[in-house]
Amino acid sequence: MPTTNRMPAIFFGHGSPMNAIEENTYTKTWTQFGQDFPRPKAILMVSAHWMTHGIAVTAMEKPKTIHDFGGFPQALFDMQYPAPGSPALARRVAELLAPLPVQQNQDWGLDHGTWSVLTKTYPLADIPVVQLSLDLSQPASWHFDIGKKLACLRDEGIMLMASGNVVHNLRRMSADPAGHAWAHRFNDKMRAALLSADWDKVVHYEQFGQDAALSVPTNEHFLPLLYVIGSHQPEDQLSIASDGIELGAISMMSVVLS
Ligand code: ZN
Repeated sequence: MPTTNRMPAIFFGHGSPMNAIEENTYTKTWTQFGQDFPRPKAILMVSAHWMTHGIAVTAMEKPKTIHDFGGFPQALFDMQYPAPGSPALARRVAELLAPLPVQQNQDWGLDHGTWSVLTKTYPLADIPVVQLSLDLSQPASWHFDIGKKLACLRDEGIMLMASGNVVHNLRRMSADPAGHAWAHRFNDKMRAALLSADWDKVVHYEQFGQDAALSVPTNEHFLPLLYVIGSHQPEDQLSIASDGIELGAISMMSVVLS
């Protein structure tokens, strides 16, 4: 249990959008987060599904629910997550990241990387949520450093969250429940590095050659994890809240610093 008022930092392995309307071992873990941790004043969420050039934060009072996927049942398109925004938190993020420019965005909203997990953790949607975009023009180490700069928010009642997948290769998905060997190897290496606080190994994941290239063919689902570990504090304990390879090539690992 946390010994200070510091909020946890949580990385969700979000997987399929269907998790929003299903119940399984992963979603039960997400629900448990809402019960285990103190209620935050607001949430800052880095989602794999908001990619930009330059940094942006959602700065509107009422972010819309974005259904950024195709080919799923109507029930998923009917989902709404009407959490308020927090223009004050959006400004605070800009303050912390200065002199880097942070666009105060009025167009985006909450994409499914955010609401598919938050609908389980905070189903009432009554905690303000701000999304932070992923500037894909920047290297992995830069994203880790942004996490460091945002760490102090955790002492200001803000829960830092990120949503992606440690292994995410949609082209290599398969029905074989065993999952690809390369996906397991890479996932195991990342889990071991996380548990031994070897951040360097996580940031420089590309050193794992072909396993890394297959597990992280594009890095937008991996990078959100770096914001969470970048916010690491000496008192933090890291735990792997859930884990597993689904559809052959998707890691459902969720990671908590508290
Ligand atoms: Zn995704």
